[in-house]
Amino acid sequence: MEEEKYQKMIKRCLRCSVCKWIPQVQIKSQKYASGCPAIDIYNFHPYSGGGKIILALAYEMGRLKPTEELRDIVYKCTECGNCAVACKYMNTLEPLEIIMKLREKLVSVGCGPMPKQQAYIDAVKKVHNPYNEPHEKRIDWLTDEIKLDPNAKVLYFVGCTSSYRRKEMAIAAARIMNEAGVPFNILQDDEFCCGSPILRTGDVYTFEQILNRNIDIIESKGIETVVFSCAGCYDTFKVDYPLRRKYNFRVLHTVELFDELITSRQLQLTNQVPLIVTYHDPCHLGRNAERYEDWDGDIVPLMPLVSINIPPKPKRTGSKGVYDAPRNILNSIPGLKFVEMERIQEYAYCCGAGAGVKSAFPEMALKTAITRVDEAEDSGAEIIVSACPFCSTNLQDGIKGKNSKLIYYDINELILMALGLETEKMKQATAEVV
Ligand code: SF4
Ligand code: SF4
Repeated sequence: MEEEKYQKMIKRCLRCSVCKWIPQVQIKSQKYASGCPAIDIYNFHPYSGGGKIILALAYEMGRLKPTEELRDIVYKCTECGNCAVACKYMNTLEPLEIIMKLREKLVSVGCGPMPKQQAYIDAVKKVHNPYNEPHEKRIDWLTDEIKLDPNAKVLYFVGCTSSYRRKEMAIAAARIMNEAGVPFNILQDDEFCCGSPILRTGDVYTFEQILNRNIDIIESKGIETVVFSCAGCYDTFKVDYPLRRKYNFRVLHTVELFDELITSRQLQLTNQVPLIVTYHDPCHLGRNAERYEDWDGDIVPLMPLVSINIPPKPKRTGSKGVYDAPRNILNSIPGLKFVEMERIQEYAYCCGAGAGVKSAFPEMALKTAITRVDEAEDSGAEIIVSACPFCSTNLQDGIKGKNSKLIYYDINELILMALGLETEKMKQATAEVV
C-alpha cells in the first residue's frame, strides 16, 4: 500500500467492530459467527483488524513507540483477510493491507519481524527454504514413477512445504498430471522459496529480491503456465507479484487445472470413494487470491476525512477467490458425500497457520486449528480436505490436539483414490501391515 493511501486510510476506521465477525447475513449460528482468530483468542480490541488500524494511527501520531508489546500484537495475526472482507459491509477500508504496511514499518525500525520469523528468513537467504533444509534435498519427494518432460511449457512449482514437509501432496499432484497426460516439468535445483512467508512478516526488501529472481528464472525457460498445489505460493504469484512486477505466464492452482481436466474428461474419476467429506477453503486460495483490479479514477474530497472515488473503485470483497473448482472436483468423485461447514468461501475461518504465526505463536495456530476442526466435525464429515500444505500441517495438528476422529486428506489424494491409484498414506499402511 502506498504511503499516502495508508496515511488517509488509517484515519477512516469507524470503530464499528464489524471486522471481528463474518458478515451478519452469513451467520448461521452463534458458535460460528466470529471471523478473526486473533480477537477470538486474545479477546482485546487491539488484536482485531480495526484495533490494529487504531494502533497504526497511534504509531503514526507518535503515541505508541515500537516496543515488543506493540510488535507482539501486530504479529499475532494470520493475515487471513476476514477483516478485509467484513469491512466492505460497513466501510471501504483494507485492514489487511494496513496490517501488512504496519509490519513493514516495524521491520524498517528493527522492531519486527518476530525472532522465529527472522530465523526462517535467514534460512531462505541461505538455503532457499524456511525449514533450513539442504537445498539439494528439495527434490527428494520425486519418485521413479513420476515422468517429467524437459520440453514442457507447463511448470509445476512445488513450493518449500510440499517439497520438504508434505511430500504426499507433491507426489499426488505430479501423478495426476501424468495420469491426465499433461506434460510438465519442475525447476529442480532452480526452485527457490516463493517469498510468501517473508512478505507476510513485512520484510519487503528481501521479498522483492526473491520475486525478481523467481520471475527471471521462469521467464528464461519459456514457460507458459505455472501450476501450484500450494495455496500460499499460488496467491503470492497471482496477487502479490504483479503488484510489484508483471510477468508473461499464466498461473493456476492444481484444483483449477484438475477441474478443467475432469470437465473435459481428460481425467476420468471412476472409482468409488464412499466418504463423507468437508472442504476447508485456504485463505490464500479463497478471499486473498482475488486479484486487484486496475482503477484509474480520481479521489474527490467532499469534507474533512470524507472523499469519493470517481468512477467508483471496484471493491475487493473476496468473492472472486477459487471456490467452485474444489467443490466441482469433490462433487465429481463417485460415492463421495460432500457436506459444507458453516463458514465457507470468502467467509471461511482461517486454519491458523499463516503469516508466520505457526512459527512465532504456535499456541495461537493450534487453538485456531482446533476451532476449525470443531466446525468440520459439526458438519457431520468424517474427512476434512483442503488444498494447501500449510493448512494440511496445521489442521492435522488441530486434529491431534483435540484427539478428533476426523482424518485429513489433501484434495489431490482424493482424486488419486477416484482414479483407482494408491495414495502415499495407503502405501505406508500396506508397508506397515507387511
Ligand atoms: S487478518 Fe485475520 S487474524 Fe488478522 S486481524 Fe484480520 S481477521 Fe484478524
Ligand atoms: S469493520 Fe472496518 S471500519 Fe469497522 S472497525 Fe473494522 S476496520 Fe474499522
